[in-house]
Amino acid sequence: MLGSHVGLGGKEQFEGSVKEALSYGAETFMVYTGAPQNTRRKDLSEMRIPEATALMKENGIREFVVHAPYIVNLGNTVKPEAFDFAVEFLREELRRTAAMGSRTMVLHPGAHVGEGEDAGIMQIIKGINLIFDADTEAHIALETMAGKGSELGTSFEQMARIYDGVKYNDKLRLCLDTCHLNDAGYPVKDDFEGVLESLTRYFPLNQVACIHLNDSKNEQGAGKDRHENIGFGTIGFERLHAITKMPEFLDTPIILETPYVPKDGEKERAYSPYRREIEMLRSGVFDPDLLAKVRMDAEQE
Ligand code: ZN
Ligand code: FE
Ligand code: FE
Repeated sequence: MLGSHVGLGGKEQFEGSVKEALSYGAETFMVYTGAPQNTRRKDLSEMRIPEATALMKENGIREFVVHAPYIVNLGNTVKPEAFDFAVEFLREELRRTAAMGSRTMVLHPGAHVGEGEDAGIMQIIKGINLIFDADTEAHIALETMAGKGSELGTSFEQMARIYDGVKYNDKLRLCLDTCHLNDAGYPVKDDFEGVLESLTRYFPLNQVACIHLNDSKNEQGAGKDRHENIGFGTIGFERLHAITKMPEFLDTPIILETPYVPKDGEKERAYSPYRREIEMLRSGVFDPDLLAKVRMDAEQE
């Protein structure tokens, strides 16, 4: 199922997120429970969850995923207070995820901030073991990372090490980000079958609970993490479209996190590409004029 990341905020809160997803013709979506770059969160009672749930039901949206804020770092061994905060916050965020009706919270595993891969991975394991208990309902899907800075989770082998250390690892899942995999060095464009083969050396395919479908601005192995619109980057339309048609992933939320299209000459204003990108992926035909059409749509409104 295909969707995109959507906003959450204002008066409409979570109900507004669902409306945004529906306006793109999406079958699923991903949402941050507040601003992704901070950890201020509204009380669940103010988030219009029943309204959002009813709207999803009416429109056949069966599944969505939550993304944890990307500033918390479970891999931090340098600042104990940052680690403690991350654990506390993520435990609460996982409860919020379940209360909103999702079973999956996507998480960037963490960064070792100079202390090395082993120290970082041990710390992430310690953190997840403090977050999960026997009653935890929602899963954490560890997102494959590009390897920017000291990011961990850049290989399936590292993910397997994390799984190995986590007591309740039946509550762990994976999120494959196509841009991040490409930037981390996996041949997404040329040999995605091979990428999945590397994955299944460690995990059954059903551990993939979410896919972030993004093209990349950079070459394979660049270690950069800069997303590009579908078909406009180094991975290309053909591969990304093929992923959306794989029988293995038909019931997996496939989420676009491609960049907004800036208005000509005005960098502060940019338009959501998601309705057009979803339509293009469904049609199976690349449209080189897509970004111009996104601008046109927005300017006609
Ligand atoms: Zn992410
Ligand atoms: Fe992602
Ligand atoms: Fe990214």
